[in-house]
Amino acid sequence: MTFEELGLSEHILKAVKAKGYTQPSPIQEKAIPHILEGKDVLASAQTGTGKTAGFTLPILEILAATKKEGKRPIRSLILTPTRELAAQVYENVREYSEHLDIKCAVIFGGVKAKAQITTLRRGVDVLVATPGRLLDLESQGALSLKRVKVFVLDEADRMLDMGFLRDIKKVISLMPSERQNLLFSATFSKDIKTLAHTFLNNPVSVEATPENTATETITQRVYNVDKGKKTEVLINLIKDGNWSQVLIFTRTKHGANKLTEKLNKANITAAAIHGNKSQAARTKALANFKSNSIRVLVATDIAARGLDIPLLPHVVNFELPNVPEDYVHRIGRTGRAGAKGEAISLVCSEEMDYKKAIEKVLNERLETGIIPGYEPTDTAPPKKAATQKNKKKYSDNKGSGSARPKRQRPSNRRTDDQKGRNSGDRRRS
Ligand code: AMP
Repeated sequence: MTFEELGLSEHILKAVKAKGYTQPSPIQEKAIPHILEGKDVLASAQTGTGKTAGFTLPILEILAATKKEGKRPIRSLILTPTRELAAQVYENVREYSEHLDIKCAVIFGGVKAKAQITTLRRGVDVLVATPGRLLDLESQGALSLKRVKVFVLDEADRMLDMGFLRDIKKVISLMPSERQNLLFSATFSKDIKTLAHTFLNNPVSVEATPENTATETITQRVYNVDKGKKTEVLINLIKDGNWSQVLIFTRTKHGANKLTEKLNKANITAAAIHGNKSQAARTKALANFKSNSIRVLVATDIAARGLDIPLLPHVVNFELPNVPEDYVHRIGRTGRAGAKGEAISLVCSEEMDYKKAIEKVLNERLETGIIPGYEPTDTAPPKKAATQKNKKKYSDNKGSGSARPKRQRPSNRRTDDQKGRNSGDRRRS
């Protein structure tokens, strides 16, 4: 199928062409016709599937085809969980609407509100916003949602994870009841389904099916490593693999800072991105990472949510997430738009329960290997554990620089929970 066949008009097609897209992604092919028909849509799609264009293009088409109203009331609201995602979605809306008489704006917290208020006063057709700042400015009378015709709840699962349920309900109450609703989510928990039920009217469900998603091209590797050895292993992986662009996830902000410091000390340029960093610092870190000025971006889940970093070759889970769905989001940062990607997880004994929870969500076992020279000593049963002598020998070798892990492939050694399973890399299916 082509973009022309989807029923998009000339000015939008021109912008799509300028982006270099040759054909719609599966989620675009499935969602766009329903949205153009004015239906509510419940879409299962994660970042990397082209979901943003999936809702933006038809919304622009709908708005461009309807008559402008006086002072440009907000006719479409796109609600996103994080500032970064809001900025990215806005950038997309801006690009796709380049040849249309449509104004868009973005508002989020962490920056002064004054410029945002000025922009809103001039009139905005499409507003991209995070919940807090949106409600804040609405309560100040800086904006009204009374004329919204199309509402998008983007990354709804993350919204709920971040505790935005009340805010979402409040936002919904501020819009007219007659409107079109689109809900996009990577995962569908009971809470999401309940939320969807409350505001979607006879929604059409669309899904970026696993066969067609970018995640098919992700190779997942999991290594059992002692907690205290993770940094060393990571540094070796980056240096030996000559990785030029790697996104690393930690569970905590403090952990992100500590790891960033250690990487920089090891001459691997890195920056951290998390909720305690100012918006300016986050934007700068992301820009430097995208332009290859730094090799590593260390992120917490919330900060990294929805980051659009095209063709990211490596993602590392320095620590597994305690929310299993986050694993899916994290590895979705690689292998995008048909490119091959590698997602590596360093797992210590304390994280085995997290691993099991992730396997449950994925509905598959994660093949787990050991890096030669870094056999875990925390978990191994007594008779298999590395002896003090061996450990000493190894650290002596390391001192001479000869015991670096040679390759990042899992060895044939198995942990108990892998017995009876096939070896080799596994792909998500
Ligand atoms: P998204 O899932 O919306 O974050 O998009 C992921 C990436 O895919 C972004 O860099 C988009 O610019 C890109 N993209 C979106 N649609 C297409 C398409 N039809 N063909 C190729 N790339 C696309």
